[in-house]
Amino acid sequence: MKLYDISQEVFSCAVYPGDPKPERQVLSSVDAGSVCNLTAFSMCAHNGTHIDAPFHFLHHGKSVEQIVTDGMQTKISQMTEDCQSKLQDTLQKIINDSNGGMICIII
Ligand SMILES: [Zn+2]
Repeated sequence: MKLYDISQEVFSCAVYPGDPKPERQVLSSVDAGSVCNLTAFSMCAHNGTHIDAPFHFLHHGKSVEQIVTDGMQTKISQMTEDCQSKLQDTLQKIINDSNGGMICIII
């Protein structure tokens, strides 16, 4: 499977009229004598490349979190008990052995 990265750069991409523009603020800087570099940013959830969940338009529509949870539960429910057990063991090992890094799991 070939993957294509269609991500837009957040700070330079078009913003829907009326939505707040992405902003970043340097809170501290090593160059300015601070112990670390620290940046805060804010943006609308609809900036850049994103998914609009049904909840965006429908009062009782599903959120992205609900869609992902439903999809994961469906896929996991289709696995054999042995496979579910191995997945659980693997996830527990990854969580226990990781050092706070990002984890991406494709099922
Ligand atoms: Zn949107």
